[in-house]
Amino acid sequence: MYDDNCTFCKIIKGEIPSTKVYEDDKMYVFKDIEPKAKVHLLAIPKDHFKLLSEMNGQRAMVIAYMLSKIPQIAADNGCANGYRLVVNQGDDAGQTVNHLHIHILGGENLPW
Ligand code: 5GP
Ligand code: ZN
Repeated sequence: MYDDNCTFCKIIKGEIPSTKVYEDDKMYVFKDIEPKAKVHLLAIPKDHFKLLSEMNGQRAMVIAYMLSKIPQIAADNGCANGYRLVVNQGDDAGQTVNHLHIHILGGENLPW
């Protein structure tokens, strides 16, 4: 469930402070500490795993659930005009935190 050495697990548990914008029993959404757009949120499952290749039926249900919740969360946080989702996977993508996370970017006309 949790990995004791994982920054995002510590954020979920409240051991590292974060600016939470949404939480329920399956997911947690907070502001990225180094925003790459006017709005930059991170949506994470409460279950710790790194890669989509570690998917199983339960995790797939949680990811589908997260995707179903993200439109309203994005709209409530300044992305009513659109947003971009990014999921970095592994070293070549520059994944720096080993807990699957969906970047939600928006709040402006994204330049790329
Ligand atoms: P990655 O490059 O792994 O896809 O993205 C990791 C993201 O997590 C980065 O955008 C980085 O700014 C963010 N991040 C890393 N550590 C923390 C933290 O302790 N708090 C918050 N709010 N964001 C973090
Ligand atoms: Zn974790």
